[in-house]
Amino acid sequence: MLVVMQAQATEEQVRAVCQKIEALGYRAHSMPGAQRTAIGITGNKGEVESGSLEEMPGVQEVIRVSKPYKLVSRDTKPDNTIVKFPNSRVAIGGPDLAIIAGPCGIETRDQAFTIAERVARAGAQFFRGGAYKPRTSPYSFQGLGEEGLKIMAEIRDRFGLLIVTEAVDYESLDLVDQYADMIQIGARNMQNFSLLKRAGRARKPVLLKRGISATLEEFLMAAEYIMSEGNYNIVLCERGVRTFADHTRNTLDLSIVPAVQRLSHLPIIVDPSHGTGKRNKVTPLSRAAVAVGADGLIVEVHHDPDRALSDGMQSLFPDQFDALMQQVRQIAAVLGRTIPNAAGQSILVGESRMSGS
Ligand code: PEP
Ligand code: MN
Repeated sequence: MLVVMQAQATEEQVRAVCQKIEALGYRAHSMPGAQRTAIGITGNKGEVESGSLEEMPGVQEVIRVSKPYKLVSRDTKPDNTIVKFPNSRVAIGGPDLAIIAGPCGIETRDQAFTIAERVARAGAQFFRGGAYKPRTSPYSFQGLGEEGLKIMAEIRDRFGLLIVTEAVDYESLDLVDQYADMIQIGARNMQNFSLLKRAGRARKPVLLKRGISATLEEFLMAAEYIMSEGNYNIVLCERGVRTFADHTRNTLDLSIVPAVQRLSHLPIIVDPSHGTGKRNKVTPLSRAAVAVGADGLIVEVHHDPDRALSDGMQSLFPDQFDALMQQVRQIAAVLGRTIPNAAGQSILVGESRMSGS
């Protein structure tokens, strides 16, 4: 159910409706929009009796949301969600494109700093790197744990990059929430519902990756789990799905970008690294992702990929990442979008270096 408030409804009237919903034993999610505020009602004790809400001052109408996802739906919030980061001019989902880059895993302090310096110089606003790695084999590198998070926090201080890293369970989620700027939930955990709920109670925005065989509806329902717990700052990420095709590691499903944008107000970015698994396909698919209208990219970069402890085959060399940035800047410009650096400064098309360096 959704309570649509009148355009001129006061804050007090919105608050009174929320209190009433909570008193009835449901959860109220107030979603202010450009035109009016909508209040989503969630709970698992059946449908709300709408009559008493309809009569409250400031209420325009009470409507049933027929789709299984409610809060992530455009029916609830017609305007795009723009995920903002405190003390930063970086945002995801507005006109600027978000570029997240870094190694698959944090291996050593030197490795992470070398790569961070290069991706910052190329104009990325976010540094990625796993401190907790969900690996197919228990004998593969599992990540440095909290030590990796500390290295990333140092990188934020040194280069001004925002930090994105994956949480794989409750314990790591609490730590990632402390150290990082955005919490990544990986493909393998997209339907780990208790982890999603925990992420919904975290303070930081969540980067939710699509499961390896998730439908659009399952993907949006995973985001709904997070949002139903009160965290409205979610960025979706297409990272390829498993198909019969074996020329790439996964099949990057770029058509999900406009499909998500039609149904949901949440931003969506693309991961061409896991989406293809092959270095030589990362730049072409990055160009395509920007052209299709994605709100950003997450790209794996490594200065010595042959010796990377994970995903070296799909990691770009830093020089290749420089070239990728130049190309996607030009494509972004065609769409009226820009790629500012972490300090919020725009970089002119054709410039390869961050302004001022
Ligand atoms: C990653 O980003 O390194 C990762 C493990 O991604 P995914 O969950 O999409 O496989
Ligand atoms: Mn990886």
